[in-house]
Amino acid sequence: MSNLRIFAVNHKKISSLHINNMCSSKIRASLKRLRLRALLGRNYSSLPGLIGNDIKSLHSIINPPIAKIRNIGIMAHIDAGKTTTTERILYYSGYTRSLGDVDDGDTVTDFMAQERERGITIQSAAVTFDWKGYRINLIDTPGHVDFTLEVERCLRVLDGAVAVFDASAGVEAQTLTVWRQADKHKIPRICFLNKMDKIGASFNYAVESIREKLKAKPLLLQLPIGEGKTFKGVVDVVSKEKLLWNPNSDDGKDFERKPLLEMSDPELLKEITEARNALIEQVADLDDEFADLVLGEFSENFDLLPAEKLQTAVHRVTLAQTAVPVLCGSALKNKGVQPLLDAITMYLPSPEERNYEFLQWYKGDLCALAFKVLHDKQRGPLVFLRIYSGVIKRQLAIHNINGNCTERISRLLLPFADQHVEIPSLTAGNIALTVGLKNTATGDTIVSSKSSALAACRRAEREGEKKHRQNNEAERLLLAGVEIPEPVFFCTIEPPSVAKQPDLDHALKCLQREDPSLKVKLDPDSGQTILCGMGELHIEIIHDRIKREYGLETYLGPLQVAYRETILNSVRATDTLDRTLGDRRHLVTVELEAKSLETSSLLPVIEYAASVAEDLSQASREAIENGLHSACLQGPLLGSPIQDVAITLHSLVIHPGTSTAMISACVSRCLQKAGEVSELAFKSKPISGYGARKRPPKSV
Ligand code: GDP
Ligand code: MG
Repeated sequence: MSNLRIFAVNHKKISSLHINNMCSSKIRASLKRLRLRALLGRNYSSLPGLIGNDIKSLHSIINPPIAKIRNIGIMAHIDAGKTTTTERILYYSGYTRSLGDVDDGDTVTDFMAQERERGITIQSAAVTFDWKGYRINLIDTPGHVDFTLEVERCLRVLDGAVAVFDASAGVEAQTLTVWRQADKHKIPRICFLNKMDKIGASFNYAVESIREKLKAKPLLLQLPIGEGKTFKGVVDVVSKEKLLWNPNSDDGKDFERKPLLEMSDPELLKEITEARNALIEQVADLDDEFADLVLGEFSENFDLLPAEKLQTAVHRVTLAQTAVPVLCGSALKNKGVQPLLDAITMYLPSPEERNYEFLQWYKGDLCALAFKVLHDKQRGPLVFLRIYSGVIKRQLAIHNINGNCTERISRLLLPFADQHVEIPSLTAGNIALTVGLKNTATGDTIVSSKSSALAACRRAEREGEKKHRQNNEAERLLLAGVEIPEPVFFCTIEPPSVAKQPDLDHALKCLQREDPSLKVKLDPDSGQTILCGMGELHIEIIHDRIKREYGLETYLGPLQVAYRETILNSVRATDTLDRTLGDRRHLVTVELEAKSLETSSLLPVIEYAASVAEDLSQASREAIENGLHSACLQGPLLGSPIQDVAITLHSLVIHPGTSTAMISACVSRCLQKAGEVSELAFKSKPISGYGARKRPPKSV
């Protein structure tokens, strides 16, 4: 195996280790050195599986069997404890040597400076680690409402997810949103009721809120031992064991797992036996194979049913998404995280258990999704790829379907929080980090070549015919398909001096590649650059990043809300334009109706009554559309764009010799007239406190 290197993102190379065709004793010697170095500080520099006594083949370490891969995400309402749980996971799996704390601002996954300061997770980072022979790729999804696009994109690359709840709060607003997004992407989930140590924590309350608010069927795989201050551990309902954490252990590594015995815990044993029987019945209701087993062999005594049989059935039910396993613990107090890791490997699916329809079209050819772009000052853009099929190698030329361009991956890395390990190749199911892709943006689909894309396209077309679908062929090949919402907030941004404008343009270009929900426009009147984002925090963070990462102190104008207007009822209006210019008479009479549209559409949907459509020339039709589009640019309420309207032209009389400009002017004026008498509404309500400023947006 040639050329294995270990890098750190923060430009401080931790160690650089070249392995050129070396034998395993040399590898061992290098690893010893590495371990020594790792002991000196926080260890980010171990290659999964390489630390330990048995050195497996490098290939199996880098490319584990696909059945052993778990691509998962953690989703939660802000403050539920996602970052703390992630930290514990990384600690117990051996990739950090000390416990990070969000309150101290030193966690691994929240590695951007702003995140550390704000204590929230904005950019999603992928972290790779191993747990009991499984390879887990953890995609850290952001929890803030301004970043729902990021959440959606991350969900797209997950095979399963852990929903973290604050056990004292139950299901909160943001969890609901993300839960629905996960439903949309059909992602199997398990629930972790965190903060069981907190005063006011209630297992039953949280379970009820999952049942009621999320309309999900909770499978109680654990019950807590104590709640709030008395929380000590959990009982494993499946195996009837109790797990108690040593109160003297300060990192929670030390816990004991003991079978519940009639002699020592009669009460608890009774409670758990009932819970287990209820679980078995619940799973049997949802899974026929398990029902057969239970009704046959074990109908007399559920106690004899082996834990593994129940686990396999819970795995199937989780995959089918007919119910969700529920576990509990306290990440902060280091309790319950190891069993959560076990549950991730046991119940969440491997990539091959997921049914990705498009895989059949690629027939093993490369197909990957760029789900994250980061700009590194030294190495340029780093692109995170989820590989769905095929193999990625360094020095490989790839084809980007979205950009319709071909470029070369210069190096391939395995992402380890804020450090990366260089590897020669990576197979399907894994998350890779590539260097060298300069034209790839977040959300792009990557394949091996244009001809491979065309071949897949043909297969998809044949399949499409079978199913009578009418999807656009190119669209079908694009993996992301995440709709980018229109920005809601905007403000002007100015460089410190005119000479710095090109630097600002460059910074904004890079940031846009990372984050497609950021839009940048130029005000045609003032020539100013305008930043359009999803929220106040979004814009603030972009501003911050320009300063920190590009060294530019920029000035932001006042933040404004991009309102939209719409019509609520249906109105009819007529208008006549009669003007003589020179010796030419322009005369148009129009009658139109405007009403609200059920679906969302930025442009007005224009229809013509049969009598109008009959003898309408192409030129007149274009003139009408131009007129209506321009009338929709400024609504009557605040002068913001009108959207979601349908306009029907009921009659139109054009005097011979009338110019098309006059036709445009007439329909435009007629629509404005309709707007003045109709009931109007703001379409996009401002998200946060900026609603109070009812200032119409200046030209955006
Ligand atoms: P995130 O916003 O979901 O990433 O949540 P964080 O991990 O940043 O945690 C939010 C706050 O809750 C921090 O102050 C944590 O210390 C605290 N926290 C996290 N987990 C627990 C827990 O298990 N118990 C208690 N009592 N507090 C916790
Ligand atoms: Mg966080």
